[in-house]
Amino acid sequence: MELELDLPPAQRRIFCNRTLNLRGIRCVGFDMDYTLIHYRTEVWEGSAYEHARARLLAAGWPVADLRFDPSFAALGLILDLELGNVVKANRFGYVKKACHGTRDLSYEEWRDVYAREVIDLSENRWVFMNTLFALSEACLFAQCVDLLDAGKLEGAVGPSIAYRDLYKKVRGAIDAAHMTGELKEEIMAAPERFVELDEELPLALMDLRHAGKKVALVTNSEWFYTQAMMAYSFDRFMPEGQTWRNLFDLVIVGARKPAFFEAEQPVFEVVDEKDGTLKPVVGGLREGHAYLGGHARLVEKAFGVPGDDILYVGDHIFSDVNVSKKMHRWRTALVLRELELELTALESFKPKQAELTALMDEKERLEHRFSQIRLSLQRKEKGYGPQVDDEPKALRSAMHALREQLVALDAKIAPLAKEASELAHPRWGLILRAGNDKSHLARQIEKNADVYTGRVANLLAQTPFVYLRSPRTSLPHDHGPSGGA
Ligand code: IMP
Ligand code: MG
Repeated sequence: MELELDLPPAQRRIFCNRTLNLRGIRCVGFDMDYTLIHYRTEVWEGSAYEHARARLLAAGWPVADLRFDPSFAALGLILDLELGNVVKANRFGYVKKACHGTRDLSYEEWRDVYAREVIDLSENRWVFMNTLFALSEACLFAQCVDLLDAGKLEGAVGPSIAYRDLYKKVRGAIDAAHMTGELKEEIMAAPERFVELDEELPLALMDLRHAGKKVALVTNSEWFYTQAMMAYSFDRFMPEGQTWRNLFDLVIVGARKPAFFEAEQPVFEVVDEKDGTLKPVVGGLREGHAYLGGHARLVEKAFGVPGDDILYVGDHIFSDVNVSKKMHRWRTALVLRELELELTALESFKPKQAELTALMDEKERLEHRFSQIRLSLQRKEKGYGPQVDDEPKALRSAMHALREQLVALDAKIAPLAKEASELAHPRWGLILRAGNDKSHLARQIEKNADVYTGRVANLLAQTPFVYLRSPRTSLPHDHGPSGGA
């Protein structure tokens, strides 16, 4: 048989921060929402937003005319609760773009505010957008900041409410939208509006199970919602006579991550999967059963595997991949659907990126030449150091010519740089990049996720036996000396 290396396109690959041998993994746990099941964000977040807005409206807020804007925010942005801003930061925590409420701040405006700030996510001033569930919250918060600034919230919240307290109220409304039944009932009644089906998923999970790995579902969603969404998304693609329940050795709902990884919570068995009847668990978890609550150690015990033989696959940067790794040394995979959009945008921008890189190289060369002549002029005028033969007048005119060349070059660079900064998302650009640097989101992923990929079904092409090796990372000195002509 001829061996063909049949690698998927970049958009469907699994990328590796820390080498992971899938062969050595004995248990794979999956998160459900935005991991196994991908929602159309404009619809799901639109509904969550509407439920939250209705709550604020009922509380007397003037929010009747507000509408969800799915393109307002993006994963990995940061809310600044002190100033009522939404910002994008680079890997060091320096702000690179910002808006106040829904209004973009100009370069000068945000430089003024943030030039001396470094974002530290452990401070409660900042709220990191860890998951796509944050899109509705960020939009509603920013719109309410606009209302507050315009003095329109006085009647509802008083004259001097701080942005931080405003956020708490918006957060409360979003939280309630998730927790009370109506939103979930709306979704369960018409899942086809909300869910993007992926028919490759069941086979990817079957491959893992038949390769001898235990497969678990660990979700914060409640039993009825989990049952309905999994049945809708999986059963249609299962072999005759099987359902989604045949794919999992263990199901845990209502997990309350991150607490699931941090504390010993009580655990109940779902004894009747039809009516959701619960009973407290005595002893450990049994394979094939479904539970509510519990904690990570119980999963390790149920399968008799140590934490570093477990891979957990989730979409929430903090609750799924940060805490599981920090507390239990579980291996981690982050599902990041935007990666597909991001890589597609980068691919189509490639020819222009090459042009932009060439222009930037030329700019660097001219700038260096300019600085050299300027230094020669300085030495000549101050009478020290090695001297060039040219007269000051000639040096000045060479500098003038170079400056004109640089201005012309900048005129060519500007539109390309603008296009590069708007790739994938007109307002925020690529979510994994901040200019030429990594974004804060990219840094969080690098720190917490061993691997990352656009969707779970990408496991299919990689097989359950893949050895995912991290590439040799690049350091600034790999790119040769800078500043040279
Ligand atoms: P998971 O991603 O499968 O663990 O499940 C996410 C669950 O948490 C979904 O049922 C969401 O509705 C719910 N959820 C997401 N954000 C919030 C929130 O802010 N408050 C309460 N529940 C939330
Ligand atoms: Mg999730």
